[in-house]
Amino acid sequence: MNKGILVVISAPSGCGKDTIVNEIVKEMGDEASVSVSMTTREMRPGEEEGVNYYYVSVDQFKKNIENGEMLEYTRYGSNYYGTPVGPVKEKLKEGKTVFLIIEVEGGENVKKVFPDCVKIFVIPPSMEVLSNRLRGRGTDNEEAIATRLEIARTELQRAVEYDYIVENDVLQDAVEDVKAIIKAEKLRINIMQTKLREVIKDA
Ligand code: ADP
Ligand code: 5GP
Repeated sequence: MNKGILVVISAPSGCGKDTIVNEIVKEMGDEASVSVSMTTREMRPGEEEGVNYYYVSVDQFKKNIENGEMLEYTRYGSNYYGTPVGPVKEKLKEGKTVFLIIEVEGGENVKKVFPDCVKIFVIPPSMEVLSNRLRGRGTDNEEAIATRLEIARTELQRAVEYDYIVENDVLQDAVEDVKAIIKAEKLRINIMQTKLREVIKDA
């Protein structure tokens, strides 16, 4: 049976996790899949149902938790965010590389359910570069940027819980680093043992 790789990517807002994953998915095509999370927050301008998130009410979200449909979930600010478990299992069964772009609590909980997942934390070259990128993105005012930087300082403390740290300085270098991690993960014994058995059988 094919066995895919589950990749958890976390980083403070503005560090480039969406940009990096988008580039990799472009290159990997059908082999990769990005999990679409569920949230109770409002849809932002430019976002689409089923593309950025599945937008649900708090009641619906709680029902999904009760029904065991969430791989993990967390409260972030005043909203719930979570990963629907069905599509993740399905894509892994198909042998795909599945990306979860989630915050650190979620990352910790995923590792409990899928101990073989690989956890990557993306860091900026410096706090100064991070604040410039947040400004450049143009989605936040100065007050919101200050809050995001404060949250970033706390989140960066938890990067030590991850398997790998990727610095996002030059985008293509960061993309290559993540691809190298995935390549190595695909050669791990737990992934390769079916192939190994096949070879041994004919020996
Ligand atoms: P996140 O998903 O972590 O919140 P984004 O992917 O939205 O971050 O990136 C934040 C901003 O920084 C975007 O405007 C993006 O185009 C820019 N960015 C991302 N990576 C780089 C990079 N390596 N060099 C310069 N700008 C970058
Ligand atoms: P935003 O509201 O800016 O889209 O997301 C806020 C935060 O929630 C980000 O750090 C994002 O990575 C995180 N997030 C998005 N989806 C999920 C999810 O399914 N689970 C968890 N734990 N965090 C998520």
